[in-house]
Amino acid sequence: MTTVLTPPVVTDLRGHAVPVDHYIGGTWVADSDRFAVFDPATGRQIAEVADADESRALEALDAAVDAQQTWRGLPPRRRADLFARAHRILRERADMISEIMTLESGKPLAEARAEFALSADFFLWYSEQIAHLHGSFAEASQGGYRIITSHEPVGPTLLITPWNFPLLMIARKAGAALAAGCTAVVKSARETPLTCALFVQVLHDAGFPPGVVNLVHTTSSARLSAAVMGDPRLRKVSFTGSTEVGTTLLRQAAPGIVNAAMELGGDGPLVVLHDADIELAASQAVIAKFRNAGQACVAANRIIVDERIADAFIERFVALTKALHVGSGFDPATDVGPIISATQREGVAALVAAFEEIDATRLTGGGIIEGEGYFFEPTVYEVHDRDNELCHRELFAPIATIYRVADTAEAITFANDTRYGLAAYVFTRDLSRAFTVGERLEFGMVGVNRGIMADPAAPFGGTKASGLGREGGQHGICEFLEPKYLAVTVDEEGALA
Ligand code: NAD
Repeated sequence: MTTVLTPPVVTDLRGHAVPVDHYIGGTWVADSDRFAVFDPATGRQIAEVADADESRALEALDAAVDAQQTWRGLPPRRRADLFARAHRILRERADMISEIMTLESGKPLAEARAEFALSADFFLWYSEQIAHLHGSFAEASQGGYRIITSHEPVGPTLLITPWNFPLLMIARKAGAALAAGCTAVVKSARETPLTCALFVQVLHDAGFPPGVVNLVHTTSSARLSAAVMGDPRLRKVSFTGSTEVGTTLLRQAAPGIVNAAMELGGDGPLVVLHDADIELAASQAVIAKFRNAGQACVAANRIIVDERIADAFIERFVALTKALHVGSGFDPATDVGPIISATQREGVAALVAAFEEIDATRLTGGGIIEGEGYFFEPTVYEVHDRDNELCHRELFAPIATIYRVADTAEAITFANDTRYGLAAYVFTRDLSRAFTVGERLEFGMVGVNRGIMADPAAPFGGTKASGLGREGGQHGICEFLEPKYLAVTVDEEGALA
């Protein structure tokens, strides 16, 4: 039986009580400084959330440090039971958490529900792994001793999450850290703190011990993270966000040699080869491009099409794009929700203005949708001249760009012509070709004939400027573990000496 803690401050949102304070050492902690959270579909304020400064964040780190030894010492089966309980409670709260996610991020409710289901699956998957984190045993190559390798948690961690997948990012990171036996300080994204709070409340109600997970919200991310990163008790930072901020954190990690995992930006190519199933490629490209209004690190940033089928593909892709319904995430007809903020939408408009200046043809969209909220038309360009910075940067917007290429070789060369290396996609009916092209694409993940590929058992992450390390799969848990090697002397009969 778990005790349900009533946080001291809640806001009644769509009938749900949502914590709006920090969570430190097992209790909700208020701050007199607060900041507003907005619904991007209306532009209206929906909540006021506690605003942490550096000292509050260091308090959270104190709690994580205090809990570290007890948490790592808990038998794996006990930790696994807590995860299983959290998974059950999460599922009971599916509607509430999905609705709050839609409210603060704007994403269509169907997308929020899909993100919820995947996040819950991560918890189930971690619960199944915890008791199976095995080491190894080997004979030393020169004989005389044995090599015993085990895995130890790296220690207290700082987890920094973005707003575009408010639940998945915290569930995937915190799940892996906690499964490995690390404690955590989570810093939510300013735009979406409520989903993070609901997630942490689930862990509390499941019975995770005080201090194992701690959550702070802030408008001073840079100052707060600099303070925590400079504390020698912190042993790992795991960050999801832009390459620019990731670079800053890596600099901050250097003096203390803090272990760092980075899930950063992307410039994903979606390659449609001459033998592709055009209907499949077009429909999956629409998902890979316009999911979350294009605000996804794994979005199809450049659609690269063999010219032999380009006319047919473009006609179908544009028709499907024109059919997308843009609106509130709570409208069941909606395919594409709002952009996260007014500032971000201005950035999207500026990108469109820039594409108008280069050798590119606008095939649909291009405008701000007037009225309340931050909506923008799904937009498609066919770009004729690739020698432009616009063709090699992350758009992070509902703007699809299509490029024609002569053949597979040219498609691969252009696909790889980017500083990023997160997700790529290839469409072909020939699996042997898919395999060859997949191997030559310099990306951490390649979707073959599909536009979505996140899964608890898969190692998610990128190469080059897209990051360091992986989330998900065994690799994801290993990110929070360090191998420990014991050299144990044995006598001639093999007995411990
Ligand atoms: P962002 O880098 O601005 O912010 C991400 C997080 O970092 C937020 O919590 C923010 O408050 C915090 N932050 C900002 N400045 C900071 C600083 N100086 N020190 C510490 N923390 C700081 O990114 P965003 O706009 O929220 O998200 C968009 C970016 O995230 C895109 O580039 C996208 O590709 C990337 N992203 C990557 C993945 C992935 O798994 N690879 C997933 C989602 C998003």
